Amino acid sequence: MRVSGSPPAPPDGAGPAVAGAAGLRARIGVVGAVAAGLLRATLDALLPPHCLTCEAEVTVQGTLCAACFRELNFITEPLCVRCGVPFAHAGLADSRGQCPGCAAAPPAFAAARAALRYDEGAKRLILPFKHADRTELAAPLAAQMARAGAALLARADLVAPVPAHWRRRLARRYDQAALLARAVARLARRPCAPDLLRRTRATPALGERGAAERAALVGGAFALRRGGAARIAGRRVLLVDDVLTSGATAEACARVLLRAGAAAVDVLAAARVPDPRLAAGEAP
Ligand SMILES: [Zn+2]
Ligand SMILES: [Zn+2]
Repeated sequence: MRVSGSPPAPPDGAGPAVAGAAGLRARIGVVGAVAAGLLRATLDALLPPHCLTCEAEVTVQGTLCAACFRELNFITEPLCVRCGVPFAHAGLADSRGQCPGCAAAPPAFAAARAALRYDEGAKRLILPFKHADRTELAAPLAAQMARAGAALLARADLVAPVPAHWRRRLARRYDQAALLARAVARLARRPCAPDLLRRTRATPALGERGAAERAALVGGAFALRRGGAARIAGRRVLLVDDVLTSGATAEACARVLLRAGAAAVDVLAAARVPDPRLAAGEAP
């Protein structure tokens, strides 16, 4: 059984946390903060908090057990200074610290970073967040993103999510990139514009497609919302997404922002798919 007594508060109160908990929170809101704290403490005592991704008991609500934490692979240096792809060793970078891909075709964004390698451990956090209404996972993911993207957040004038298509947002009832954008912006005390961009059409999964095909599929799929240009003129925008795969989506969004007058665009994701060749130490 998953504990639903005291889930971590969702970012900015956006989106439901756990079914039943919203109703409970609404009711305890009437009683007041002191009583709510007492109630939460009582519930925690009755139902010990569980790990975010398994049934193991943990001491602090909203954390991972030691076994699940060990399954996560945090992205650390050495990595490409531009796109953030992790290297097996620093010798894979060129003289400017870039991966071969960035050296051959520099992306429109200035820098991209991600907290986790998108592997089995990360999927146990991210897939339930994306597809199973586990919106409370935004907070722990955002905490790791704020660590990995500290330098990007420090220079960001505005934080904005890579938008989901309205049809997908309707089906899921929430937009996971927007939840992450709000949460990291709040942690770093930066303004957030959750509706800066919109998707003009749905795009298929980019998966195994080649670079040219991916760029063609997402090209023209994004646009600024009305009034967006005034918000970004001369400003540095930090784009937030859940998973960075090829970077084609982030690239398409960055191009829209730069064309509309943004000074620069950085990208921050919860996880990124590593380049297997660079991660294994082979030059591609
Ligand atoms: Zn666990
Ligand atoms: Zn790179």
